[in-house]
Amino acid sequence: MTFPENTLTSARQWDAEDPLRSFRSEFRIPQHNGSDAVYFTGNSLGLQPKAAEAALKQELEDWARFGVEGHFEAKHPWYSYHEELTDGAAKIVGARNEEVVMMNQLTSNLHFLLVSFYRPKGKRVKILTEQRPFPSDTYALASQIAFHGLDPKQHLVEVQPRKGEHILRTEDILAKINELGDELALVLIGGVQFYTGQAFALEAITAKAHEVGAIAGFDLAHAAGNMPVQLHDWNVDFACWCTYKYLNSGPGSVGGAFVHQKHLKANVPRFAGWWGHDKNTRFRMGPEFSPMPTAEGWQVSNAAVFNMAIHRVSLEQFGRAGMQRLGTKAVQLTGYAEAIIHWLNGEHKVNLEIITPMEPEQRGCQLSIFAHGMGKDLFDKLTKQGISLDWREPNVIRMAPVPMYNSFEDVFRFGEALNVSLSKK
Ligand SMILES: *Cc1c(COP(=O)(O)O)cnc(C)c1O
Repeated sequence: MTFPENTLTSARQWDAEDPLRSFRSEFRIPQHNGSDAVYFTGNSLGLQPKAAEAALKQELEDWARFGVEGHFEAKHPWYSYHEELTDGAAKIVGARNEEVVMMNQLTSNLHFLLVSFYRPKGKRVKILTEQRPFPSDTYALASQIAFHGLDPKQHLVEVQPRKGEHILRTEDILAKINELGDELALVLIGGVQFYTGQAFALEAITAKAHEVGAIAGFDLAHAAGNMPVQLHDWNVDFACWCTYKYLNSGPGSVGGAFVHQKHLKANVPRFAGWWGHDKNTRFRMGPEFSPMPTAEGWQVSNAAVFNMAIHRVSLEQFGRAGMQRLGTKAVQLTGYAEAIIHWLNGEHKVNLEIITPMEPEQRGCQLSIFAHGMGKDLFDKLTKQGISLDWREPNVIRMAPVPMYNSFEDVFRFGEALNVSLSKK
């Protein structure tokens, strides 16, 4: 798609032709001076689906009406609530149903999966991650290394970008895996980097990790619901994600976990709890743990129904929208935003550098803009005009035009606000 013109009329024309256009009206959009704000922070907290309210109310009513019997009598029985989410979640991450379970939250799932899949032995002790991962991941990885009595300073390795570059080259990631070789126990990187918006080559990274005898796991916080992934076919060992970013399931909502089929019957060590026990014999309450033969075997606790009620609504929407169509629209929205930014750079003789890769397969719907010489002042000017973005030190503005509910008109209005902000410099 090229953008020969940038007018409100053309943006509205693209919206009219957008097969996903009706989804916007299914969300509550924050207001600014009496009209819809331009909400480009769905990468931090996705917007509320209108249907979330009724879904929550249903559970409150069933609780009031049935008490404990709601475990079996509720419209969506609480006993097996998580099972209703599996099919939709598996489609989003390209998994078989038995490989996916919705449970806990992101960092807790990361820990549970590391217990199973980070098993340092002999000289094979190192974990490779990306430069500047999200701090929670660094804390989790370092604490797991220390938990095994090893030194995180020595064994947690970050792939660094080349001098003067912001993003990582796939060839450098693969070379680092090769270099660590038989000292490498685990590769654990983000699916999409939270700061730069770079989407990593998960399939190639997985293959290379396996080639040197290491495990490959991914944190899909910024990838799940943002870009199509195929965890099963790519042979990924494990993955985890949250649902409050692109998956619109509300603050702190339930997390997801993926364990590849090949590990399901292998009696992998894990931290166990009663909900991971075979459901056919769970209520015999015997002393011996006999795990579910699926990813559900990693569950420790019973389902967090109120969180899951909203996630159920969200998964239903993703099922209707489809990851492929969302991916196509993401490329169009970010391409349009990119064209506007380049044009304004020329108009105003400024340097707003997009550090997110240009290639569609190397990004989702986030653009990270390095604001040379302008900094937070520019961000504040945009915020005052009703553009919801976020600011990351030292000098990056992140924007995420989300294909589920953002429009081409949103991108146009962002461009107008940016033009005004730069004019008043
Ligand atoms: C958002 C995010 C988290 C947050 O972790 P929670 O356990 O959900 O609070 C962790 N890691 C990454 C990469 C994230 O983007």
